[in-house]
Amino acid sequence: MTEALAIAGGTPTLSSPLTPRTPFPPEALDLITEAVGSGVLFGPTGPLTQRFEGEFAELTRTAHAVTVSSGTAAVHTAIAALDPAPGSEVITAPITDAGSVAPLLFQGCVPRFADVDEHLSMTVESVRSLINDRTAAILAVHPFGGACDAPALRELADGAGIALIEDCSQAYGTTIDGRHVGSFGSIGVFSLQQSKHITAGEGGVCVTSDPGLDNRMRLFRDKGWDRSTSGARSYPSLGLNYRASELVAALAIPQLPILGGRITVRRRHAATLDSGVTQIRGLKPWTPAPRVHASYWAYPFMVEGGRRDEWAAALLAEGVPTSPGYTGAEIHQCMAALHEAGTFGGTRYPLDLVEPAATYSSDLTPSARAMLEKLLVFWLHEDLPDEQVALVAAALRKVGAALLPPSTH
Ligand SMILES: *Cc1c(COP(=O)(O)O)cnc(C)c1O
Repeated sequence: MTEALAIAGGTPTLSSPLTPRTPFPPEALDLITEAVGSGVLFGPTGPLTQRFEGEFAELTRTAHAVTVSSGTAAVHTAIAALDPAPGSEVITAPITDAGSVAPLLFQGCVPRFADVDEHLSMTVESVRSLINDRTAAILAVHPFGGACDAPALRELADGAGIALIEDCSQAYGTTIDGRHVGSFGSIGVFSLQQSKHITAGEGGVCVTSDPGLDNRMRLFRDKGWDRSTSGARSYPSLGLNYRASELVAALAIPQLPILGGRITVRRRHAATLDSGVTQIRGLKPWTPAPRVHASYWAYPFMVEGGRRDEWAAALLAEGVPTSPGYTGAEIHQCMAALHEAGTFGGTRYPLDLVEPAATYSSDLTPSARAMLEKLLVFWLHEDLPDEQVALVAAALRKVGAALLPPSTH
């Protein structure tokens, strides 16, 4: 006898909604009061922003951190600092946020998408196959708190004479062989958006150990203005206003010392769910790649047999919301800017800067497609009590028993 699923009129496994995340420690309020009381919230020269940048660089074992207004702004700032010629190609991942891709288009670059492995990470082989004489950079994405093989990508990039940027927005505290992601590339980028391990609601950070790139990024986030000169204003390079205010640093600073604790809880929750998932026929846990110590931005898992959406509906009724396929499809299939002539005055710019103009078919990254069709993402976080995570595991077992009854012979 299997228990009746909530979707079929049974009692839901969770009788109340999951505990929401409360990422802002009380100390954040003190710092906000301090910042507001000072009367000055301008970020780039503010004491809190400078303190945050110092501590963030330390966290990632890099020399410099540059605070910006979003993760998307961080990607744009990183790409702009490399100063690629229009029509340069940048290789990135099909499983990512649109914030990894949109800045490439605004910077006149053509995105190329590398396929992924069973860890949902872009593979070195796929990246290698896309490198040509127009390639300016690899924008590696570390998914779900895991990591792609950044050391191998670094070697590949160095050998090809191109840059490596790491998008670590989902990978705070993630290490490869003990080394923090974001320190393998010439630039690492992070988002401080609401869902990330450390958040100010909005915001972003770029890290680098290259003083030249640090300088170019500081100029880019501040309209290209070199404030150290006197006389007529000097804008030695073109930039935008991607500055973040002191409030971003005030919210983020108190989260840095507790990041490790957050990740410990997330790993414990993931282990609880893993031990449930591995016992359920038709489910497969996501695993980080070897040598990677994952920080679990979320808890991804796979549903075999084409029953992903059935699982999602049944779990939702049990009180366990999930996101099927993360963004639902490969990011190159989600963005009209890559398909319709709707960007920059109805032209295909910058995709037509290469010959033939870049197109993005639905079979561009078949492994990513196959993985996303099986993927469910549970938004695990550090404020979920252990009892709730145990209930989520129970809901998985319950749905598993009902949707995939054990074979009778
Ligand atoms: C969240 C995210 C971004 C974009 O960050 P925003 O702060 O929302 O602009 C970019 N890349 C990845 C991998 C992300 O997860």
